[in-house]
Amino acid sequence: MANSQKLDLLMLAAHPDDAELGCAGTLLRYAAAGRKVGVVDLTRGELGSRGSAELRDEEAAEAARILGLHVRENLRMRDGFFRNDEEHQRRIIEVIRRFRPELILTNPNIDRHPDHGRAADLVHDAAFLAGLPKVQTQWEGEPQAPWRPRLLLQAIHNSYVRPDIVVEYFRLLGAEAGGPHGLPQPVLPPGVPVGGNQHLHIHPRLSGRAGRPQPGVGQLHWGAVCGRLHQPAPPGP
Ligand SMILES: [Zn+2]
Repeated sequence: MANSQKLDLLMLAAHPDDAELGCAGTLLRYAAAGRKVGVVDLTRGELGSRGSAELRDEEAAEAARILGLHVRENLRMRDGFFRNDEEHQRRIIEVIRRFRPELILTNPNIDRHPDHGRAADLVHDAAFLAGLPKVQTQWEGEPQAPWRPRLLLQAIHNSYVRPDIVVEYFRLLGAEAGGPHGLPQPVLPPGVPVGGNQHLHIHPRLSGRAGRPQPGVGQLHWGAVCGRLHQPAPPGP
């Protein structure tokens, strides 16, 4: 995987496994459409109750191989204790300007784990600041040009939020192990039944290039890239 290249989609996730559990199907579908996809994890998830940071490193590398990622990096911020401050914003700005993604996915700002909400706010603020020419950063001794993604979306995790965009991905995996991408069934998140269509829900917190919400842009963008999109279900009683 190259260290620096333009990406179409960049997932900025608080922990290694957030991308896999939160939006792997979408990453896979995007990559299958011929787009360049990357994941940058903010921390190594060293405070996770299960496993270890070293095991998560190995799993992240394996997941990157399966998903066909062009980039997978880890910023090694402190799990549980990273902050949405200038120091951390500048590190995210550097990443955004290095990879110049059209679309950024990140954690949801409404979620059980406080890291997820903080990461969402951190990425949101950094994505805006990355577009300001007077916010100066360098990478490998060279000044970086400003860049702001067209869209910033949140992948719903633990807490249900009514989605604005629903991406169908299950058929891409194949209904059984060894589908078109050779994905084994355990890649699917817990609770996902095998044998039907499943939807990934994306909650957008839209930031257009002009820095203001652009309703409908998300649907148009995903429709162009991924084909058929499903309208979200109406809210329940
Ligand atoms: Zn997480």
